[in-house]
Amino acid sequence: MGKVTGFLEFERLEEGYEPVPQRLKTWKEFVIGLSEEQSKVQSARCMDCGTPFCNSGCPVNNIIPDFNDLVYQGDWRSAIEVLHSTNNFPEFTGRVCPAPCEAACTLNVNDDPVGIKSIEHAIIDRAWAEGWVTPQPPVAKSGKTVAVIGSGPAGLAAAQQLARAGHAVTVFEKNSRIGGLLRYGIPDFKMEKSHIDRRIAQMQAEGVVFRSGVMVGELPKDGPAARVTNDATETVSAQQLLADFDAVLLAGGSETSRDLPVPGRELAGVHFAMEFLPQQNKVVAGDKLKGQIRADGKHVIVIGGGDTGSDCVGTSNRHGAASVTQFELMPQPPEEEDKPLTWPYWPYKLRTSSSHEEGCGREFAIATKAFVPGTGKDKHRVVGLKTVHVQWQGGKMVEVPGTEKEWKADLVLLAMGFTAPVASVLDAFGVERDGRGNAKAGTDDGSGYRTNVAKVFAAGDMRRGQSLVVWAIREGRQAAREVDAFLMGRSTLPR
Ligand SMILES: Cc1cc2nc3c(=O)[nH]c(=O)nc-3n(C[C@H](O)[C@H](O)[C@H](O)COP(=O)(O)OP(=O)(O)OC[C@H]3O[C@@H](n4cnc5c(N)ncnc54)[C@H](O)[C@@H]3O)c2cc1C
Ligand code: SF4
Repeated sequence: MGKVTGFLEFERLEEGYEPVPQRLKTWKEFVIGLSEEQSKVQSARCMDCGTPFCNSGCPVNNIIPDFNDLVYQGDWRSAIEVLHSTNNFPEFTGRVCPAPCEAACTLNVNDDPVGIKSIEHAIIDRAWAEGWVTPQPPVAKSGKTVAVIGSGPAGLAAAQQLARAGHAVTVFEKNSRIGGLLRYGIPDFKMEKSHIDRRIAQMQAEGVVFRSGVMVGELPKDGPAARVTNDATETVSAQQLLADFDAVLLAGGSETSRDLPVPGRELAGVHFAMEFLPQQNKVVAGDKLKGQIRADGKHVIVIGGGDTGSDCVGTSNRHGAASVTQFELMPQPPEEEDKPLTWPYWPYKLRTSSSHEEGCGREFAIATKAFVPGTGKDKHRVVGLKTVHVQWQGGKMVEVPGTEKEWKADLVLLAMGFTAPVASVLDAFGVERDGRGNAKAGTDDGSGYRTNVAKVFAAGDMRRGQSLVVWAIREGRQAAREVDAFLMGRSTLPR
């Protein structure tokens, strides 16, 4: 514990943001990280609790009190070693993790939690700047081969762990660039893509082979799953992979967008968020797109109140939308959580993201009844939508009479979450699905990420359903250990 009285002396210090007018002009990150001195002061607030709830609140079980102490002592090099011992990619989580660790921090019982995420961010950014993050190729090769399908955080974490254990790992990715939703979901203003590129270089030096633009199996011909991001120019069958590799890990994410099948859904101008967001990330990366979906001068309505919706808000404002409004079906949560009731768990409270602060109307308890077409030459294009307010009675949603309203809308973005992985890919391997349509495989119930098909494992959103980057990293790491044990009879990879 750095400073015994630190938590009494120092306040929580938030990372800064560039001013809104400035950040709306660019696609760059706008968070101003803590300085070395600020990080030291923040880490001095850690009480090194006997039972560190933060450590179990963090899905990768980052050893938070230890790296806080090391930062306080000025030993940043040891701090990154501690951080990397549980988390392959702290630069991703240090930027986009919602930080359930902070909700679990003991200081959060009656004060503001330690700024754990900001300290993690500072440690990894310093480590890269100092040149401390280098390839760790294996000492010996195992002679075993592993195919990882999907290059999101689950696939990347698994691939890195397996390569370091000596296996020959090939990552198959249908998109033209590696990274999964880190690359094509999360906008650049939340996480610039150079962070992924330098990890890819590190992993290539450790022996991982990346094959982008390669589709494993096939997408369905229609429905939401047919519209997932896909730049594949080559296809490889499940049978081929099963024949060529000693083990296969399915980490293809949960890509099927939840649809809103109300009248007018087919109108031009109504899109899934994951049709809109990847296009902008591709443009930032230098691609030339024909007919990019843009929000310039438009009245934008984002349906869905979560993170994906919030990313649509930030992207629309950067395009120069005339107005942006976000709809949420559920009632507005309270501004403050009920700490005695919820600590150390993730609290139910109103969350206002940096994108909301950039300009956005927010409507709660509202349901969309229909998309309204224009007239004449606009008869196939959305010009508005019809809504009604709703209430929840006995767990059922009921419409509130007299609250019907029509809204102007030139662009509607559907950001209501994801229902399941693409079923046809799981079917190609003969992998059973659970009740929610995810790949059926357990974690700590003894089944160790194994599916019903011999030598086929599953991890990340493809197994657990839509989730978070930090959960995907956890599952990738744990699945890698299981694959390693399956191939070698035992594993020294961390759990
Ligand atoms: C817009 C958006 C914003 C988000 N923001 C955050 C955030 O701020 N913080 C956070 O923690 N989480 C966020 N999430 C959630 C987070 O990104 C995901 O939980 C996480 O990326 C899941 O990782 P994964 O590796 O399981 O899958 P994914 O990241 O989805 O990667 C799966 C990859 O597999 C590829 N693939 C699928 N099938 C095949 C196939 N048959 N052949 C070849 N390749 C295939 C896909 O193309 C994709 O690249 C966000 C999600 C979205 C959609
Ligand atoms: S990965 Fe997320 S939960 Fe874990 S320490 Fe970092 S910010 Fe907290």
